[in-house]
Amino acid sequence: MTVLPFFLPNLGCPGRCVFCDQGLSGASALADPAQAEGFFRSAISALAPAQKEGGVELAFFGGSFTGLPLATQQELLAQAGRLLDEGLAQSLRVSTHPGLLDPAALDLLVRGRVTTVELGIQSTDDAVLARCGRGHSRAQALEACGRVRLAGLNLGVQLMPGLPGADAASDLQSARDLAALAPQEFRLYPCLVLKGTPLEGLWAAGTYQPLSVEEAVTRCAAALEVLLACGAHPLRLGLLDQPALALSVVAGPAHPALGELVWSHHLAARLADFLTGHALEIRTLRLQRALASLFLGHRRRGLELLGRLSGRTLDLELADFAAPVPDAPGWTAIPGAFAFRQEGPSILVARAVPIRTPTAREGVCP
Ligand code: SF4
Repeated sequence: MTVLPFFLPNLGCPGRCVFCDQGLSGASALADPAQAEGFFRSAISALAPAQKEGGVELAFFGGSFTGLPLATQQELLAQAGRLLDEGLAQSLRVSTHPGLLDPAALDLLVRGRVTTVELGIQSTDDAVLARCGRGHSRAQALEACGRVRLAGLNLGVQLMPGLPGADAASDLQSARDLAALAPQEFRLYPCLVLKGTPLEGLWAAGTYQPLSVEEAVTRCAAALEVLLACGAHPLRLGLLDQPALALSVVAGPAHPALGELVWSHHLAARLADFLTGHALEIRTLRLQRALASLFLGHRRRGLELLGRLSGRTLDLELADFAAPVPDAPGWTAIPGAFAFRQEGPSILVARAVPIRTPTAREGVCP
């Protein structure tokens, strides 16, 4: 599925979240809802045939869709509806704020043939939400998620580990709260301090300390595990590495391959679980060569972490073997993207399901 995002930076938002830089770049001046249909038509005509064959999804991102004036929402849904009617697109998603999704707002989305609603939850800790100026409570967030599920729409959620007032326990609890509502999709964006935001002032005053990259990876990996276990699909881990973002970040866990670090951590932790419980005879890790960069990364990170977590030192072999099909005999799936099997004194590790790589800037509330 190719997602075509039309950005509505900050439009419809009930306030200004302390970490948010939507609109600071001047992009809001470009967000004219009247141009959405023309934008989508040109973007669709520029797609390669193979991209169209996989299906096209239209998306309204970057603001709070259900906070827009009713006439604007209707107009945007009508524009998207024409493309759905013509068969140029197959589905429609919107992102919005959990405090702006009462039954009437949701009903409009259902009637407008929205298939997926992404909610920027960020945290389910009331103290964190208040400190961040989110303008919604934990109860509202959970209620909005439940409402989307009850309406039969796909639910996507976004969490932001490392917000002011959050700690590892509250970030993990946020993931658990959302997992209990069985979202279909999720995004994890560790909090960054961006230029010109209120958070920059807090950071400069010493009242906010962002996560290190290592902390962000650990917290995201913990949330990833919980959300994968409920069957949710990870849409994105960490913001896309873009020149504009790099210029905007003044502090925090910005890393060009944060997603890979999180996957590597996840894989090492799951393998360590297996090694700790079983198979003392295993001495070698036979890693599918295609996984080497992701798992080992810089300074053999995944192998080092696996050793630390399991208390075992394994020899490493890179090997070429086919990825197992889902449920292949002898293989144990690791939720997300991997599988392993024991073969004598070796443990074979392979990628089992491709990790989705977005082709466009995506996000609910960066
Ligand atoms: S984080 Fe989301 S809800 Fe908050 S101001 Fe930014 S776009 Fe609006």
